[in-house]
Amino acid sequence: MSSEIPVKQIDPSSDPSNKNNKGETVELYASRKKIYVKEVKGFFQRIRNVSLTLLMSMYFLFVWLTLDGQPLIHFDLPAREFHLYGATFYPKDFILLSGMLIICAYGLFFITTLFGRVWCGYTCPQTVWTFIFMWVEERIEGSRNKRMKLDKSPSSSGKIIKKSAKHTVWLLIALATGLTFVGYFYPIRELIVDLFTLQANGWAYFWVAFFTVATYLNAGWMREQVCLYMCPYARFQSVMFDPNTRVVSYDPNRGEPRGGRKKGVKPDEAGLGDCIDCGQCVQVCPTGIDIRDGLQYECIGCALCIDACDEIMEKMDYPKGLISYTTENELEGKQSKLLRPRTFGYGIMLALMISAIIVTIATRVPAQMDALRDRGALFSFNGQGRIENSYTLKIANMSEVPQTFTLSVAGLDDIQILTETRVTVASGENRSLPTVVDVPPESISESNNEILFKAVSETDTSLILETESRFVGPTR
Ligand code: SF4
Ligand code: SF4
Repeated sequence: MSSEIPVKQIDPSSDPSNKNNKGETVELYASRKKIYVKEVKGFFQRIRNVSLTLLMSMYFLFVWLTLDGQPLIHFDLPAREFHLYGATFYPKDFILLSGMLIICAYGLFFITTLFGRVWCGYTCPQTVWTFIFMWVEERIEGSRNKRMKLDKSPSSSGKIIKKSAKHTVWLLIALATGLTFVGYFYPIRELIVDLFTLQANGWAYFWVAFFTVATYLNAGWMREQVCLYMCPYARFQSVMFDPNTRVVSYDPNRGEPRGGRKKGVKPDEAGLGDCIDCGQCVQVCPTGIDIRDGLQYECIGCALCIDACDEIMEKMDYPKGLISYTTENELEGKQSKLLRPRTFGYGIMLALMISAIIVTIATRVPAQMDALRDRGALFSFNGQGRIENSYTLKIANMSEVPQTFTLSVAGLDDIQILTETRVTVASGENRSLPTVVDVPPESISESNNEILFKAVSETDTSLILETESRFVGPTR
């Protein structure tokens, strides 16, 4: 067997470790060029405005709402309780949280397979806040051209006023965002009072400041950089795409050869395609790409370029849709399939997970009881000559109201509880109850006997808790 290792001649001048190499330095990270996004109106921008208004209203309003005296959504970390739409979840419900995260992941995969990055374009918080910040920028500093001119102009009082106003509004929005976010963990009414009277704990100040700064930087300064360099979804979403996935695409068959022409000139008269090379699709793109270069991972699927191009097509009296939501197959003149193996796969997994979560929530008991035998002493005889065993009963009340339970025990003749038999457990409380049980010696024929503890709720008579345990006596 040959032990030769194949070798390849390398030009020493191309070796970067060669000190004599005077070659060009190549930057591995391209420095950011500021993107001046042109505002555009159109069908897809209207859809985004609706989704943006809806999502922002939910985010800022839900934190204030209560249901039956409980917050609608509240993550009470010190008490380890999570209040969601009238239900309270505890750490033991962690499986539900995992299930919901899996549903979100499959939902995202399912939608991405069908419609590409619609999540990024319409609902991702980074997009939502960036669009709000851009809207504020446009109102204060003016259109794209005015903003470019303003940035190039020397410092002046007018420039300072505009820039200060913009950053102040951005910071106020960021502060409201930070306060609201922390308000989901620290009751919002108390949070506001405690923060401004300096009564809140240090962590509350830290997290409000953290989310304020993060929002301000992400939506005001970093914008598309978050999508391009920080978001992992941008990198792996392409594996969910196939030739039938509907994504924002330019139709080169119709648009090329591109070129300028006067209004009213038909493409065939000019010997050109429908693209008039106006660059509007690039100027409105929040990630600064040219969709005419084909599908790119930088494209967040916001469809602003569709709105911009449709407006141009309308002005030129050409049919709309030179840039549109379409599939690779349709662009090649082939039939597109909506339902295909991967959509079935993700759809079935999604349906299974949703069903499992519904069943789990529907069958979730609002309270639970466990009995732990006191292992310190196996048994003892009391003053009445009866045999005693000790237990710790643990009752967790996961319902929204306090529950009063009547306790009983069964399984042996004349068995009884000597300690408290009526107990009230507050909503969300996990109560430990030292419990002593006794039986006459003649009731037990074996040293180890099965018994059953029962707790019947007086508050909700359909709520009956049962748990098995062992009663130990002398060896027979
Ligand atoms: S907006 Fe439409 S016509 Fe203008 S450059 Fe882009 S694709 Fe061509
Ligand atoms: S190319 Fe730009 S404007 Fe068009 S959908 Fe993608 S990100 Fe939006």
